[in-house]
Amino acid sequence: MEIAEIKSRLTLANLLSYYSLKPDKNLRLHCPFHDDKTPSLQVYYKTHTAYCFSSNCKTMARAWM
Ligand SMILES: [Zn+2]
Repeated sequence: MEIAEIKSRLTLANLLSYYSLKPDKNLRLHCPFHDDKTPSLQVYYKTHTAYCFSSNCKTMARAWM
């Protein structure tokens, strides 16, 4: 199986559970990419993306997949 094929089959939910990340009821979680004191990473299951709203976040991984 090609890497690209594996990646295309990986859902955002799988990815979050892999990193032991559990979004709250508003689908927000503590951003793993910066020192996050309040949950500022919004998860969008429909589009399989997540976006960090914090201005402290310097990571390029603001949008996933
Ligand atoms: Zn962040």
